[in-house]
Amino acid sequence: MARATITITQHLNYAPGHAVSFTANQALFNTVVAFYFDVIQAHEQILTLKAKEALTALEILTHTTERNPHPVMPLSEIHEDIPAMFRRAAINAALGSAKSFYSNLKRWKNRCEKAEAKGKTFTDRPPVPPRTWNKSVPFYAGLWRERTQNSVMLKVWTGACWSWIKVRISGRSLPTDHEIGSPQLIRHGKEWRLHTPVEKAFTAPAKVEEQIKAQIPIKICAVDLNLGEQIAVCSVQNAEGTTLATRFIGGGDAVSGFRKKALGRIARNRRKTGIIAEGEQDNVARFQKLRNRNDSEAHRVSRRIVQFALEEGASIIVFEHLGNLKPEKGKYSRRGNEKRAYWMKGRIFRYTRYKAWHECIITSRVNPRNTSRDCARCGAKVVRYAQGWHPQDGYTIGAPLVRCPACQMRGHADRNASIVIGQRLFARYRHPVTQEKPQARRVRSGRVVKATGVVVSQDAQNRKPPSMAAARHGDRHEHGTAQTGSLWMDEHLSSFPTQLRLFSE
Ligand SMILES: [Zn+2]
Repeated sequence: MARATITITQHLNYAPGHAVSFTANQALFNTVVAFYFDVIQAHEQILTLKAKEALTALEILTHTTERNPHPVMPLSEIHEDIPAMFRRAAINAALGSAKSFYSNLKRWKNRCEKAEAKGKTFTDRPPVPPRTWNKSVPFYAGLWRERTQNSVMLKVWTGACWSWIKVRISGRSLPTDHEIGSPQLIRHGKEWRLHTPVEKAFTAPAKVEEQIKAQIPIKICAVDLNLGEQIAVCSVQNAEGTTLATRFIGGGDAVSGFRKKALGRIARNRRKTGIIAEGEQDNVARFQKLRNRNDSEAHRVSRRIVQFALEEGASIIVFEHLGNLKPEKGKYSRRGNEKRAYWMKGRIFRYTRYKAWHECIITSRVNPRNTSRDCARCGAKVVRYAQGWHPQDGYTIGAPLVRCPACQMRGHADRNASIVIGQRLFARYRHPVTQEKPQARRVRSGRVVKATGVVVSQDAQNRKPPSMAAARHGDRHEHGTAQTGSLWMDEHLSSFPTQLRLFSE
């Protein structure tokens, strides 16, 4: 069984005095987490234990009971009366932070040793343990009760005593077919919200390879991400190579305009204030706004990609690998804008992956090389142009239209790219290749045009639920512009059967 977890965010209505209690509760929680972090630092061997054993070991070290009257580092010195589940939540939070800190330290030591072995001077500073703590409080079972769609009782430390507080819940309701996890009180600015992880179990979808090699007809949704107005262009195709549906997900210009404006304001502000203090974030609210907009946009686009795949019955969503970001020359706002557009592409991929997994759809990635330059119908190099230009002008990066000089295919450039991306995924398993070769495979009129092969990515074999942790930046990609011309990409000429049909011959 596979599992998928999502977090439901809900707004809370509470008396103003309760906000004070939530703050006190969080402060106490962080004091306890900091205490346990110190305990772990004093007993590093705890980190070698399994999660449950580590918890027991830490309780023996700190918690006074009849059987354990004199713990080494009593928690009661920090605070007299801490509920067991509150303590355990703090222990787990401290264990998480300690694991992360010690693995960072280990990596740093390794780098240091390597540099010394080579005789180089190593100047990187070692990681330091957290100096301040700002963790949100999870409410383990026993710290919350009487949860309905509209209200919940939470046990919090008010600053003077432990008390049950009833809060009203508004906003999104919890799905009924999911297992409900421990809710968390999270501070968003001045407001406190409730985040609840919900988990569902389902039969894991078959691996990409199994799905494609199986004799059942499948549909895949290929996505081309861009920096232009059409942020994502998705096309659904079947194993025969027929494109069944296309969707353009726009809004790129609006978000890019927003970023440009915000970054321009930041740049002007910086000019006015002159020197920026080191280690201090300037224009905090503006940067926060930028981040929020980028994030919500990534959520919106990824949600629509998954919806489209669901509507069309696709069982795999395929992207191209995002390369490394290459810094562009230009004004601050322009560079900053582009950088954030790349970040957004990376986020769209990550968000799509977990949202799709929740709907039992797997995601995969293919080699990005020349996806925009190859013809989706015959594989020859295309000409890119804008309406009104002469199609013979050659390849203009970012032009919205394509024309293939070999088979006369015409169409939208990003749509062409998305179809090529989909074909690459099928091609990967039709012609098994043992290792990566540089160029994607293209066959024209039964003749191999170029040396062929595609990357077998890790995603293909991966059946594990996607993790939100792996951060990836976007890559350099041509700009595309919205174009509402007619599309001719699906008209197959009899002399140019699709390459995929050729593969199965
Ligand atoms: Zn062509």
